[in-house]
Amino acid sequence: MGSTPAAAADAAVRAAADELAELVAALVRIPSVSGREEDAAAWCAEWMAAHGWDVDEQPLAGSDLAAGEERVGSRRNVIGYPLGRPERDEPVLALNGHLDVVPAGDDADWAVPPFAGERRDGAVHGRGSADMKGGIGAALVAAEAVRAAGIRPAHRPVVHLVLGEETTGVGTRLALRTLGAPAAVIVLEPTGNQIVPVSTGLQFFEVQVPGRAAHTSAPWRGVDALARILPLREALLRLADERSAGYRHPLFAHVPTALPFAIGRLHAGEYRASVPASATMAGRIGMRPGEPVADVRAAVEAALAAAAAHDPHEAELPHRLRWLGDAYPGWETRAGALLVTALHDAAVAVDGTAVHLGFTAGTDTGQYAALGADAAVFGPGDAALAHTSAEHVTEADLVRAARTLAATIGSL
Ligand SMILES: [Zn+2]
Repeated sequence: MGSTPAAAADAAVRAAADELAELVAALVRIPSVSGREEDAAAWCAEWMAAHGWDVDEQPLAGSDLAAGEERVGSRRNVIGYPLGRPERDEPVLALNGHLDVVPAGDDADWAVPPFAGERRDGAVHGRGSADMKGGIGAALVAAEAVRAAGIRPAHRPVVHLVLGEETTGVGTRLALRTLGAPAAVIVLEPTGNQIVPVSTGLQFFEVQVPGRAAHTSAPWRGVDALARILPLREALLRLADERSAGYRHPLFAHVPTALPFAIGRLHAGEYRASVPASATMAGRIGMRPGEPVADVRAAVEAALAAAAAHDPHEAELPHRLRWLGDAYPGWETRAGALLVTALHDAAVAVDGTAVHLGFTAGTDTGQYAALGADAAVFGPGDAALAHTSAEHVTEADLVRAARTLAATIGSL
């Protein structure tokens, strides 16, 4: 690259390798479990200000979005402008990172304390190291390197650090409502530095089936809710199989289906000697990119209704279907989009190769894509380690991600 500003930014990121790992470790030491993001927000705002960035804070309090939250307090988003605030109508590249982490679970399951931010064997360990403080750290260091190198890309980079992604996604909703849609967004979830330009969506649901209790010495006097709900599960499995067969995409060749279906919770009955008077199951069904939420909901309703029609107790004891929260819409950024090309070229420059693949997990990305932003997910760390007691991110991955992000930000 010679002595270009891009080469200077790349050299600055490589020189900051140790600082980057320390930054991620420091963030892991702030246990920002969803609902308690304030200290992590303050830490990042201070880091940005110390590097000469403009910083805005977006408090949750005072917004009507606060109504759906268990806790409001002084929870807030932090918006960082490494190259100053954009002019009106100027194209923006947003870098989205969520400040919250999922709970650590049982400390005894961890080889290192979950919030110690320990650096060991070339990796930063602990809750949030991969999901997604590693991505946040890489983006901060990358944007700072671009700033320090004096690069002024056509898209002005803006860092969106948001609260509440692991619970309701309220932070990104708050950010977008205030800032409007950027031209492009990189969401910094762990992808192992692979480029994700497409994701399927999902809708959570719950099905409740009533029965009638009876002593199990005479079960024929009751109506077994467990027996009634199992055919409904079978019907949804058949629907999910059909939907999977009807959607093929080359970036999902690595998984058995692009549209996962799963029942995550099944509960029936209260007592071993009583016929179950109630059964419930809750789970998720996948959605194609661009598929209207109403369509998948109608398909689920129809499948349940068709299966229930064979049940002699249905008229008297009808099943009930409930949607749990809003759907996470699927999304896809076209292959030739500037954002995808820039990420690709940057990854090739850093790694010698670029891997593109599709995601099946719900992220905040769909909120940006729904407003017309070109979107991609890209970040350091293995998504399979997220939410586990083995969560860590390698320092080599962090540096590669930061170099790729710096090259992308600088060229866009
Ligand atoms: Zn995440």
